[in-house]
Amino acid sequence: MIDIKNVSKWYGKFQVLTDCSTNVQKGEVVVVCGPSGSGKSTLIKTVNALEPIQQGSIIVNGTSVHDPKTDLPKLRSHVGMVFQHFELFPHLSITQNLAIGQVKVLGRKSDEAIERGLKLLDRVGLKAHANKFPGELSGGQQQRVAIARALSMDPICMLFDEPTSALDPEMINEVLDVMVELAQEGMTMMVVTHEMGFARKVAHRVIFMDQGHIVEDASKDDFFGKPRSERAQQFLSRIL
Ligand code: ADP
Ligand code: MG
Repeated sequence: MIDIKNVSKWYGKFQVLTDCSTNVQKGEVVVVCGPSGSGKSTLIKTVNALEPIQQGSIIVNGTSVHDPKTDLPKLRSHVGMVFQHFELFPHLSITQNLAIGQVKVLGRKSDEAIERGLKLLDRVGLKAHANKFPGELSGGQQQRVAIARALSMDPICMLFDEPTSALDPEMINEVLDVMVELAQEGMTMMVVTHEMGFARKVAHRVIFMDQGHIVEDASKDDFFGKPRSERAQQFLSRIL
């Protein structure tokens, strides 16, 4: 579903990604971890071309992401992305937030978009909040809306960039629970997170990054059993 091949990227003279290769199969959940500044966000953003790359290639469901001929809005409409900060439209109600992308990007009729949005809102346990505005919801609730909004576009895969790291501790689980459910339903997911409980529960593979390199790309059992690299071992011993 996602094939990342020999990707290198520079910000000016600073090389942020060095020869990164990995892939995510359909239905697979891959957790990406590593120290702050190691390039996790940059890597995940390259997958839907929110960041350009200078070397290598990325193919998502058969489409070459950085090919100038690729229809990026169309590609992005199939790749759900959830960020650390929820990025809901503050001036739109929750219902409108859920419907707008479906109408504007997918061309769905408003009624249909709202119906689908409300179904997904129910699924993340927030049906009662449909007419509120984002500012009236807690951070955990807003993040669940952001996930529902991404799902409303019928994504073929979902990318998450530290979706719980801006949340108060008591709200982390309500978001992780939604993500665990998604994973168990077979959604293809690439998830940057330090929530190793989540990784242990649903990840198929774990990627560990350090200084722009993919240092480790292992099955969950191998990774938690004993990572091969010293850097990953140190990282795990600090966060577990
Ligand atoms: P992570 O998500 O693992 O914390 P990032 O991908 O955000 O790491 O950043 C990796 C490195 O790239 C960091 O050193 C960061 O300072 C740098 N960086 C990130 N975004 C930019 C940018 N737009 N311009 C220049 N440097 C950047
Ligand atoms: Mg980051």
